[in-house]
Amino acid sequence: MMLDTLTLRVFLAVVDLTLLLLFYFITFRRTRSAYSGWWCMALFLFLTGNAAYLFDGTAHQVWANPGGNVLLVAGAASIWAGARSLRTAVPKAWLLAAGPAVTAVASVLDQPATNVWAGGPVYLGFMGVLIGLACRELFLLDHNFSRVHRTLAVGAGVLAVFYLGRLVAFLADGPEGGVFISIFGSATTTIFSAVILVVASFTMAELSNEQLTQDLRARATVDGLTGLLNRTAFLDLAEHELSRTGTIGSLVLADLDHFKAINDDFGHSAGDAALKAFADACTSTVRSTDLVGRYGGEEFILLLPGVTPQVASGIAADISRRLEASRASTIPRLPTVSYGIAATGPGRADLPKMVAAADAALYQAKSLGRDRSVLASHLEEKSA
Ligand code: GH3
Ligand code: MG
Ligand code: MG
Repeated sequence: MMLDTLTLRVFLAVVDLTLLLLFYFITFRRTRSAYSGWWCMALFLFLTGNAAYLFDGTAHQVWANPGGNVLLVAGAASIWAGARSLRTAVPKAWLLAAGPAVTAVASVLDQPATNVWAGGPVYLGFMGVLIGLACRELFLLDHNFSRVHRTLAVGAGVLAVFYLGRLVAFLADGPEGGVFISIFGSATTTIFSAVILVVASFTMAELSNEQLTQDLRARATVDGLTGLLNRTAFLDLAEHELSRTGTIGSLVLADLDHFKAINDDFGHSAGDAALKAFADACTSTVRSTDLVGRYGGEEFILLLPGVTPQVASGIAADISRRLEASRASTIPRLPTVSYGIAATGPGRADLPKMVAAADAALYQAKSLGRDRSVLASHLEEKSA
């Protein structure tokens, strides 16, 4: 049985349109995840790209054929962007545009009015490479990310190899060659594409949900005002860090002095600005590997692994200096800060006990007149 290309193309278009509508209304509108957005974009580009090829053999072929190539390569670039958005930032716009742009030039220069395979090798090459890049992103995702991404990665890998196989057959045999027509011709490609689109759309729904869940989880760990870790997230991470490191470190509790007066004198939004200024002073002073959290209200907490309490006291003074230096750009008066510092022992240490020790030292710093740091070890010496 020989299926004619036109029937297959119409069949693929119907599958594509159905998936686009289902995916847009069911997954994208609900999750608004970057991933489902890119996948809708890819389905739309595949639909319009394949539609453009329907003009082959007519007077419109001269623009429609290169247009089809460009739209399909742009669809493959969207798949790459979507896969990458699951793991990290999407590629730069110029990187996404490079494939379609080069395909456009190659197709336009290759007699598109008479040649239905204008720019063929460039088009096939970019399809293979971009889908291959999507496959790579899916494989690089954490093993536990979802139940489906490995399957999808294999699907993308098979499709990438298929396109690169088409490229090799095209270069070796030409578009009229036996191998190209029988194995890699339009009929096989269309059926293959339909199967891949359906499989991918199924797994995409699951991945979009996963991305949404992870966004919510990230939001649940960050303090909305300062962008620091919230209390629960800080304690979780600190616990993990302490069980991992075998060296001494420092736990610092910081409390802004007479903070209520800032609110009373300049208003609540000035108070908020002071909290943000303090958070910025902390993060720009400590290393990126240290943990900084908002413990509550105007209290902050830091874990500095590998730093002795004496050195931590110097770091606290640096934070206060930096806060004071930021005054000109924020509010008329910034509060001073009191710090309580406790040592964290090597090995698995008892975090609540260390927080309590730092809190007692902080209380001492307040009663000694504020704007200073007190080491918990000094309290122990006194009470001993
Ligand atoms: P001390 O030096 O003894 O720490 O005095 P204080 O005024 O800093 O401490 P107190 O506990 O009396 O007041 C803390 C104030 O912090 C009261 C509360 O309204 C304010 N506060 C807590 N969270 C926020 C916030 O998110 N934004 C603003 N603007 N104020 C806050
Ligand atoms: Mg307080
Ligand atoms: Mg205070």
